[in-house]
Amino acid sequence: MTVRTRIAPSPTGDPHVGTAYIALFNMCFARSQGGQFILRIEDTDQARSTGESEQAIFDSLNWLGITWDEGPDVGGDYGPYRQSERSEIYQKHADQLLEKGHAFHCFCTQERLQELRTQQMADKQTPGYDGHCMHLSEQEVTQRMASGEASVIRMKVPEQGTCTVWDQLRGDIEIDWQQVDMQILMKADGMPTYHLANVVDDHLMDITHVIRGEEWINSAPKHQLLYEYFGWEMPKLCHMPLLRNPDKSKLSKRKNPTSINYYRRMGFLPEAMLNYLGRMGWSMPDEREKFRLDEMVENFDIKRVSLGGPIFDLEKLSWLNGSWIREDLSMPQFAERLQQWALNSEYLMQIAPLLKERVELFSDVVPMATFFCAGMLDITEQDFQHKSLSDEDCKRILQYTLWRLEPEQNWSRDNLESIIKGMAETMGLKIRDYLFPLFVAIAGTSVSTSVFDSMAILGADMSRARLRHAVNLLGGVSKKQTKKWEKDFREYL
Ligand code: GLU
Repeated sequence: MTVRTRIAPSPTGDPHVGTAYIALFNMCFARSQGGQFILRIEDTDQARSTGESEQAIFDSLNWLGITWDEGPDVGGDYGPYRQSERSEIYQKHADQLLEKGHAFHCFCTQERLQELRTQQMADKQTPGYDGHCMHLSEQEVTQRMASGEASVIRMKVPEQGTCTVWDQLRGDIEIDWQQVDMQILMKADGMPTYHLANVVDDHLMDITHVIRGEEWINSAPKHQLLYEYFGWEMPKLCHMPLLRNPDKSKLSKRKNPTSINYYRRMGFLPEAMLNYLGRMGWSMPDEREKFRLDEMVENFDIKRVSLGGPIFDLEKLSWLNGSWIREDLSMPQFAERLQQWALNSEYLMQIAPLLKERVELFSDVVPMATFFCAGMLDITEQDFQHKSLSDEDCKRILQYTLWRLEPEQNWSRDNLESIIKGMAETMGLKIRDYLFPLFVAIAGTSVSTSVFDSMAILGADMSRARLRHAVNLLGGVSKKQTKKWEKDFREYL
């Protein structure tokens, strides 16, 4: 049997370090077993998936040195590797489950489901579907569908007993069937949900080992049941521990930058990042801290993964990066990598048009452009002193802008301008005033190149990180204040 592993990211935002972490372990496991590693794009959530985000996943993983044997960009014998191009396959499989009586059409409206949920919560029951449409006659189903009534397909789930799923790192895990919902498999728009598509694809793509984040453990009973319904053998499951912030909470962008682009932009070396990710819950047999990817593959043993939540600590990562720079780059390599990073002509050509109009001498350029190559800026609370805005006003502007821009996918200069001008207007502030704290946060001074251009060039991750850094400099936002401000903020949307 050839080992085949996969990662199956959803292209719905910035490329996450968690994706790189899981990809690394899948790749190392497959390579160490002489197998194949596949990248599949799970883009069944049509409203949130974008082509840009998909491209960013490819680019950032490639930058790290993670490569796959099959995928939407490189092809392979098991394609298509993008779920949105496989709709017919899922429909066919959902029909099979309907025929065998393992699934049923459900016509319940959102209102009914919401009421049911509210009632269940009030009765302190686990919220879940109550089987209302499970026993409709075939005739009724056909009639209601013919009349155009919207419906979804749900899977049947045992009402009682426990389900035992085996996990490579945990052994048997028992979960009560009562905790498992009658999952929707096909949505009203004809697209499958994650559960159906994931199981069907893993089977059709001959995946032998599913190595993924711990957050999917609760889905395992549904998946196992689907494998049984189809009469297929299930791949071996291995749920990796979640990456955590130094305070042990789940790694989240509110506390730590999570986008790979941020780390690239900050000037981390890909080999140092991979090394650090390789140490998340895993160690070399001789416990050495520094190792290359090929050394990791050579020594890889999935059983050495430990389950204590690994801490993703920026300070440690920076230390490790420094050691890679000092010990592993020759002087010419150092100069070359630095040049590739941000002293390249492509980047210079983005910045040059903003500077050319503002300088008299070449020696004016670098001081004016430092912030384009910096990480977090060396600014203090004092820098936010303004004639009509208090520190609190500045903080509010920064926080609201951050909230508004956190989910934003279109990071073009013009879009940023129209969003930010719109916010100033709805908040009843003069645009000049609104822009002041943004200038300081992004460029370190209010006398600088246009803040919209600067943000567009710096990119979403670095810009957001600087806004967040500025909010923290101004004392941060307490939980209580967040609640109040969030409510107020929503009114401006
Ligand atoms: N699409 C899921 C994700 O975004 C894949 C989870 C899995 O590996 O089964 O992480």
